[in-house]
Amino acid sequence: MSGNISENPGVAAAGPGDPGIRRVLSSIPVGGLTPFTTIDFPGRLAGVFYLQGCAWRCRYCYNSELWPFPPDGIRVPPEKILRFLESRRGHLDGIVFSGGEPTAHADVGEWMRAVAASGFATGLHTNGMFPGRLKEVLPLCAWVGMDIKAPFEKYEKITGVPGSGEPCRRSLEILIASGIPFECRTTVHPDLLSETEIVSLAGRIRQMGVTEYHLQIFRPDACPDKDLRGSPRALADITANLRTTLSQMFPIFTVRS
Ligand code: SF4
Repeated sequence: MSGNISENPGVAAAGPGDPGIRRVLSSIPVGGLTPFTTIDFPGRLAGVFYLQGCAWRCRYCYNSELWPFPPDGIRVPPEKILRFLESRRGHLDGIVFSGGEPTAHADVGEWMRAVAASGFATGLHTNGMFPGRLKEVLPLCAWVGMDIKAPFEKYEKITGVPGSGEPCRRSLEILIASGIPFECRTTVHPDLLSETEIVSLAGRIRQMGVTEYHLQIFRPDACPDKDLRGSPRALADITANLRTTLSQMFPIFTVRS
């Protein structure tokens, strides 16, 4: 463990006890908190802040309680966030900003800077819907996980939002150009995404420069869409053919269940 802020250039160490830092940390709309994970920020022991608010309505979303933007929705009390950061300083390597969609908030850069100044490396989970804001916060990120929902021209059938793929394509270009370590991942429900479409989107992002890609099996437990939950194909495994094809495309490829 390092708790190393040197990976966040330009962020001065202050600590969660600093009054200015406390004010900023208290304003983060954390709807949920994972206190300890070894899988959400590769190579690090990390906590995860799930930020409240997402404008998309992915049918398979298992974080729909995070859809409303503040002041609506749930909120972990700011005091709990402050105590958490104070108690984990020196014990956790990093904090991942997840969601919801962190880049939907104009202040996300300020929040990440305050967490970095408190002694944590910062990571980001994003759907890429705001390329401009992603570009702003990338210098604060030690690692990024980006969702790829579908072939870019077919995003609407997952997100429910026309034209939602194009900004994500731009975000992926920006992320690749940044040189920051990252992965791409796609959640698979066979009723929403065919194997042909998966191979098509995989070929596209490989061509763009993605080297690490993961498929995530649909999770019915918290999915709000009863048709998806009840579909006989909901829990269909990824076929051996598709696994082989994608393994041959990407230096790093896994299926996450
Ligand atoms: S982008 Fe993420 S948080 Fe937003 S609706 Fe889709 S799965 Fe849920």
